[in-house]
Amino acid sequence: MTNEKPTYLKLKNHMDVPPHEFYWIDPTTKIEMRASDIETLFLLARQHRVANKLPIPDDYDAFIEDAICKRAPECFVNHPATFKTNHIGMDDVLKKTDALMRAARKNGGKLFCDEEEAVERSKICVACDKNKRIMCQTCNGVLAWMRQSFSLPKLPQDEELQTCQIFTVMNKAQVHLHAQVIRMLISEDKADRFPEACWKRKLLTTKEQP
Ligand code: SF4
Repeated sequence: MTNEKPTYLKLKNHMDVPPHEFYWIDPTTKIEMRASDIETLFLLARQHRVANKLPIPDDYDAFIEDAICKRAPECFVNHPATFKTNHIGMDDVLKKTDALMRAARKNGGKLFCDEEEAVERSKICVACDKNKRIMCQTCNGVLAWMRQSFSLPKLPQDEELQTCQIFTVMNKAQVHLHAQVIRMLISEDKADRFPEACWKRKLLTTKEQP
């Protein structure tokens, strides 16, 4: 056993707000907290632990800041040379989602699956650790853009569907795509990039139904 303390990443400046703002999901209760600055976020996170009679680790603030750094663009972080951010740019996601949906439309045939299927897929995405929030979809007008461009029906899971970290496209859009479209757009040899439980992995590795 080693007594070495973990090394946490630090933001360059607490006054600069990263693109996805300051938010924290309590690791025990899974409740999300948001704040316009990091100090308020620390406070909210601590108050939440106290209110729920949960222990607060000595390095809790540093732990929260480390998590924020990992999803922020590199320029916000005081990082070692080897640091690689998990940040995915909003522009990339929007462009890729738009391209995916337009490619699907060009492929003709049936574009969307039925709503029941989309709901089943959504449930899997919501439980998946690759379903990552990178932006506020309401604030950025993404929901309005998607409804207008693709006339997608509302699903009960819409609020929780975020961006799939594997292909950086919006789950809210891709869960609606017809199986044939997914098979046309993603080759079978990419299936193992998706986690075991992923509906796309299952779809790519199952024989197409007539
Ligand atoms: S890996 Fe699959 S289940 Fe997970 S978020 Fe992406 S599409 Fe959804």
